[in-house]
Amino acid sequence: MKPAAFDYFAPKSIDEALALLAQHGYDAKPLAGGQSLVPTMNFRLAQPAVLVDLNGINELFFIRENSAGLRIGAMTRQRTVERSPLVQRRAPLIHETMPHIAHPQIRNRGTFGGSLAHADPASELPVLAITLNARMRVQSSRGERWVNASDFYLDLFATDLQPDELLVEIDIPDLPARTGWAFDEVSRRHGDYAMAGAAATVTLAVDGTVAAARLVYLSVGDFPTEAFLAETALIGERPTSAALAAAAEIAATQDISPGGDIHASAAYRRHLAKVLAARVLARAVDRAVERSAERGSA
Ligand SMILES: Cc1cc2nc3c(=O)[nH]c(=O)nc-3n(C[C@H](O)[C@H](O)[C@H](O)COP(=O)(O)OP(=O)(O)OC[C@H]3O[C@@H](n4cnc5c(N)ncnc54)[C@H](O)[C@@H]3O)c2cc1C
Repeated sequence: MKPAAFDYFAPKSIDEALALLAQHGYDAKPLAGGQSLVPTMNFRLAQPAVLVDLNGINELFFIRENSAGLRIGAMTRQRTVERSPLVQRRAPLIHETMPHIAHPQIRNRGTFGGSLAHADPASELPVLAITLNARMRVQSSRGERWVNASDFYLDLFATDLQPDELLVEIDIPDLPARTGWAFDEVSRRHGDYAMAGAAATVTLAVDGTVAAARLVYLSVGDFPTEAFLAETALIGERPTSAALAAAAEIAATQDISPGGDIHASAAYRRHLAKVLAARVLARAVDRAVERSAERGSA
């Protein structure tokens, strides 16, 4: 199918794009990599009257580091993030996860900010943004604001973004000291959207107990789902395999209520959630131990 007719604008600056969004409001949609928006328009599930193409706005394409972490411009291609040595060094959880997103051809075009703004519950990047305490810089012709990733996702494909707002930049703080990370997911074929996935970070105290833990799922609810009860259960514990297995059980049985669809039943998703939690928590603990040893010997 072909999309319904629309007007097309190709602004060269953020200000120009914001003026177009302010003028056209709910009738307009920003176009980033087009990897989700264009198929949706072709199926006529979305029929924006106006497309505001962000691809000519050079100021939205960047990866920069500062003393506290990374800043990634919303239009930075997913493939650029995947191949960035800066991202590998400063945000290894993102580096590890990028190859799980779709296929290289899609990542060549798809953007970091487009995926975050699209808010697909099966997407990896929103889960990472929450796990890493990322913040979103959002601009409109009315001004700018910062939104914590944990407050950004409101419902199925729904974010805190208003129709006249653009996501322009994402702030990703460094991992705290003695912190390990991991991501894993299960999909039928490599590159498919996952039936379930999980990201974790674990921070160890000097005495080896768990000082902080994050465990966030994709594909088990309408938006990224944080396993708060499992996280709390780990605090102050020694991260033994029994403690991690107990946390994984809590996550799968109390923190989430997955639905079933043609890809996986609810019961199978719960099973995956438990297996994935145990796996990512264990890997995150191993890395936290390694990083603690590196710091100790430094
Ligand atoms: C076959 C296939 C498999 C895929 N598999 C996966 C997968 O496994 N995991 C995954 O995460 N994704 C997957 N994707 C989606 C892909 O990662 C997309 O690139 C991504 O979801 C959207 O990014 P985009 O840059 O293409 O955004 P677009 O498609 O251009 O836009 C998506 C939405 O976000 C809005 N938007 C975009 N940028 C901004 C901005 N800066 N500010 C405000 N609103 C904005 C648009 O208006 C639109 O509503 C897949 C896509 C395909 C076609």
